[in-house]
Amino acid sequence: MDCLFCKIIKREIPADIVYEDEHVLAFNDINPQAPTHILIIPKQHIATLNDIEEADLALIGRLQYTAARLAKERGFAEEGYRVVMNCNDQGGQTVYHIHMHLMGGRRFTWPAG
Ligand code: AMP
Ligand code: ZN
Repeated sequence: MDCLFCKIIKREIPADIVYEDEHVLAFNDINPQAPTHILIIPKQHIATLNDIEEADLALIGRLQYTAARLAKERGFAEEGYRVVMNCNDQGGQTVYHIHMHLMGGRRFTWPAG
């Protein structure tokens, strides 16, 4: 399958991996939008948030749980951080393998642009 993030999982493309377990991989975003900008992805290929099925619910929880753990590890959990999942074109999705952006180390505004 021609999926960039599946290739990162299979080590066919290099990435700066910061966390890995049986279900999840996390690596630094190549174009960081914050002092810490980590992408957290399931090892299972799911193209968009619209493709999540009931059987995947625990996996989505794992992405969120991993984000919170990494935020604690990096020391910005208490001051706060942002997690984002973009869906499809208007949502700003460019890589069609679901991923959670974990961004921390600066202040974020809301609503986002
Ligand atoms: P999205 O726009 O939500 O689909 O996010 C895709 C993210 O993947 C962007 O923030 C890109 O900077 C990031 N990205 C693209 N290619 C790579 C790569 N090879 N390694 C790490 N991050 C990447
Ligand atoms: Zn994939």
